[in-house]
Amino acid sequence: MRVLVTGGAGFIGSELVRQLVVAKGYDVLTVDKLTYAGSLASLRQVEGRSNYRFLRADICDRRAMTAAFESFRPDRVMHLAAESHVDRSIADADAFIHTNVIGTYTLLETTRGYLDGLSLAARDGFRFLHVSTDEVYGSLGSTGFFSETSPYDPSSPYAASKAAADHLAKAWARTYDLPILVSNCSNNYGPYHFPEKLIPLTILNALEEQTLPVYGTGENVRDWLYVGDHARALDVIIDRGRIGETYNVGGRDERRNIDVVRRICALLDERRPERAPRERLISFVADRPGHDARYAIDSTKLELELGWRAKETFETGIEKTVDWYLDNNWWWQPLRRHYGGERLGVIAPNS
Ligand code: NAD
Repeated sequence: MRVLVTGGAGFIGSELVRQLVVAKGYDVLTVDKLTYAGSLASLRQVEGRSNYRFLRADICDRRAMTAAFESFRPDRVMHLAAESHVDRSIADADAFIHTNVIGTYTLLETTRGYLDGLSLAARDGFRFLHVSTDEVYGSLGSTGFFSETSPYDPSSPYAASKAAADHLAKAWARTYDLPILVSNCSNNYGPYHFPEKLIPLTILNALEEQTLPVYGTGENVRDWLYVGDHARALDVIIDRGRIGETYNVGGRDERRNIDVVRRICALLDERRPERAPRERLISFVADRPGHDARYAIDSTKLELELGWRAKETFETGIEKTVDWYLDNNWWWQPLRRHYGGERLGVIAPNS
């Protein structure tokens, strides 16, 4: 099995690549531009393996993508490359439109050209998975869940760019008969998560006795999924999912942001009691503009049709995650030094 993974040096992509190369033994080519969010250090475990290759390239570069497809000749494409941080999209959406929209369009067109040159038999086995987010569905009230048929209603520039990309993928599947599947997943957390996102930011700031910024009153609810469970779901979807279908992926583990931050403080207080209690570091900051109140995913379709189920609960996953950050400062310290600490991840309105 030859799998081309875009965005494989990122948070979820690197987890997926580690699973496919090590546990599955697939031949994998990672295509990644190595933006600030991509790190070769996240791929150290697979580096040097005979079934693994890395190509530094921009998914918006049609010529580079065509050359990569022609030389690697993938059976599967798993498309994760994206600009992914909502706050950055609010400050400047340019890179989001380029990578998430034009980049996805470029990959779809590259795939179309590549399939035209394949025999019918080779074309038959080919599949393309477009990886997306539940943020395309907008915000929920205090009840209900997003399903695969929920209407699109994105709030942030990030979510809008992902929604546009999803529509392109679905249109290319229908119009050009491309064998595409789409997945929409809830918030992920786990090892190798870039330290600008809520969970790693909170762990590392708490560890270094810095302020723990929480938007608004911390009431916003997210449905958290451990990254290893998401990567397994992606493999199951591309393996056994029905072509043309969308699958929602979620952890059925909703938490208010403030409860997530408090749980991390409590865990660190247990692990490193000398600086407890860390809740004193929490600081409520002006809310993110357009901040969605609640996301919750109904992943019944994926569970019943394809037999996937999350293995980690938030409780087990957050303990693993905190312990990973405590044990792996070689990975995060250079990123923190380069990209700053306390204020990272928080953009004041109008800035
Ligand atoms: P990430 O920001 O950690 O990684 C993105 C990767 O894409 C980086 O390695 C980066 O270098 C690469 N990249 C960016 N622009 C590129 C370009 N033009 N060409 C090639 N490579 C480029 O993101 P992530 O959190 O791992 O998310 C991966 C995918 O999963 C994204 O499509 C995201 O929308 C989706 N997703 C993320 C979450 C989440 O909670 N993190 C949840 C659901 C869906």
